[in-house]
Amino acid sequence: AIDIRGLRKSFGAVEVLKGIDLTVRAGEVVCVVGPSGSGKSTLLRSVNMLEPPTGGDILIEGVDILDPDVDIDRIRTRIGMVFQQFNLFPHMTVLRNLTVAQERVLGRRRAEAERVARDMLARVGLSEKAAEHPGHLSGGQQQRVAIARALCMNPDMMLFDEPTSALDPELVGEVLEVMQALASSGMTMMVVTHEMGFAREVGDRLIFMDDGVIVEEGDPTEVLANPRHGRTQAFLSKVL
Ligand code: ATP
Ligand code: MG
Repeated sequence: AIDIRGLRKSFGAVEVLKGIDLTVRAGEVVCVVGPSGSGKSTLLRSVNMLEPPTGGDILIEGVDILDPDVDIDRIRTRIGMVFQQFNLFPHMTVLRNLTVAQERVLGRRRAEAERVARDMLARVGLSEKAAEHPGHLSGGQQQRVAIARALCMNPDMMLFDEPTSALDPELVGEVLEVMQALASSGMTMMVVTHEMGFAREVGDRLIFMDDGVIVEEGDPTEVLANPRHGRTQAFLSKVL
């Protein structure tokens, strides 16, 4: 579980997270939506300490990750992150993209890392692409490789920051399908997305953020059908 309490983050004089309280339970899929600049990426990046918070607490499985005695690198290996840009290593094969961190961070031997990598490639439907370089894959395939790469580290939870926003529309579905299967397998997920269909069908909860605060949250179907706050209504009227 992820327990976020009173989370604040400032860049210089500008406060972009203004006290976020959010608990994501094990196996839960929480979708985060909101206008550009509302702090969605900063929230996600705070959870795995890519952005050190300026206030509040973040507990991962009960461990306060802001505690200076905590081994943040170890915590980070438990949290998979997938970005809008796939960030694959272009000069490595797909298989090598999936094994390098397993070997360097987890200390797995090459043979074991490759076995895990092939399992994960099969899971995202890309077994036949193991020997390709990322540049030869479509955007949707590259993003599925990025998801497989994160899964190779055996994460307890996965964070997705607009994973389909850089894709051509016809490639969005194959990535959402992989994410849906992952959700069905019980993975704990935080997903920043503009895909309201995904939020409705796969999300257990929908969070609407604006200007650094959670304005509204609840069952996705309910929030999307009957947004209670003016800011949520205004946002949804633009994206739905
Ligand atoms: P988008 O939908 O465009 O991705 P977002 O909701 O993810 O937006 P964030 O990227 O979290 O928004 O940014 C929130 C605010 O923090 C914005 O005003 C942004 O300009 C600012 N910000 C983000 N990162 C930094 C940084 N490294 N330095 C200074 N300001 C930043
Ligand atoms: Mg963002």
